[in-house]
Amino acid sequence: MEKRDYYEVLGVPRDVTSDVLKKSYRKLAMKYHPDQNPDDAKAAENFKELTEAYQVLSDANKRARYDRFGHDAPDIGFGGGVDISSMADFFDSIFGSVFGGGVSRQRRRRGRPGRDLQYDLEITLEDAVNGADVKITVPRPVRCKTCNGSGAAAGTAPERCSQCDGAGNVRLQQGIFAVATTCPVCKGAGEVIREQCSDCSGKGLEIAEEEFEVSIPPGVDDGAVKVMQGLGEHGRGGAPDGDLHIMIRVLKHEQFVRRHQDLHSVVQVSYPQAVLGADVKVPTIDGTAQIHLRPGTDNGQVYRLRGKGVPSLRGRSRGDQMVHIEVIIPKKLTPRQEELINELGSEFGNKIETRSTSLLDKLKHFFD
Ligand SMILES: [Zn+2]
Ligand SMILES: [Zn+2]
Repeated sequence: MEKRDYYEVLGVPRDVTSDVLKKSYRKLAMKYHPDQNPDDAKAAENFKELTEAYQVLSDANKRARYDRFGHDAPDIGFGGGVDISSMADFFDSIFGSVFGGGVSRQRRRRGRPGRDLQYDLEITLEDAVNGADVKITVPRPVRCKTCNGSGAAAGTAPERCSQCDGAGNVRLQQGIFAVATTCPVCKGAGEVIREQCSDCSGKGLEIAEEEFEVSIPPGVDDGAVKVMQGLGEHGRGGAPDGDLHIMIRVLKHEQFVRRHQDLHSVVQVSYPQAVLGADVKVPTIDGTAQIHLRPGTDNGQVYRLRGKGVPSLRGRSRGDQMVHIEVIIPKKLTPRQEELINELGSEFGNKIETRSTSLLDKLKHFFD
């Protein structure tokens, strides 16, 4: 499913203030809060979407990265444990326990949600520019087939924890306050295992090599993270599966260097070509193009090939290729060449023409 724009999710304009953002999040999230909608998968999805959007937009750094790169921005997603329960904890940490915890919270605490997995995917610059479907094999912790994830030995079953009566947390009375804390006996699982499954040593998980296809969008940049929901570690005891985070690593290219949406390359030309002008073949990311070198081209001069750069992730624009000209000064000459250069030298009177702009000035302006 395509992820919706975070601003759209929260129903706010892009220049929203943090106050309005917070109000809007509170209003919408209250409606879908899991304590209000126990066992309602649709509400849970809405609540997750809202909370993730708010978590990113309420953080100035993450918001800036999101504004620039959209959903492919690095490190903006909800880190580790994106289950509904930690989302509700996030909400409660800002607004307090509006619904008082209650029965549904205890039910939500049951089971162990799967953790998120990270996979580093190396791709070529060509694939980053054109997009690609890549098959990957991920060592994924899945529910043990022998015990079906319970961790209990064959013929036995996990037992309800007597300490917390299966709730996963216990209430401690401190003066007039009752504080809920994770049950020390079952560590929040709500159940205990008397005899461990021998195949998974009671963990309930085993590693399976699973194959997934990752769709790389054209224009993706190094460091982008793609989240594949529900493809992480399996949850146990009815808790949800974790997500798989694909970290995109774009390999260095022999001929091109990327800078934002543009690709830069160097083309070497001879001294006569630079002086007299010439048609020169130039490799591009998708084939060969030709540039017309103007007579009197300088070393370091840059020619622009429009639309030969990297496509934008959003919209249809595409960057350019910047071709930097390197004029090669020959180091070894045949006697005939030496004779001709000598002749050229005396023709010029061995004086150089001075210029109003030097190569250094050009470089300064280029990177402005
Ligand atoms: Zn097992
Ligand atoms: Zn317990």
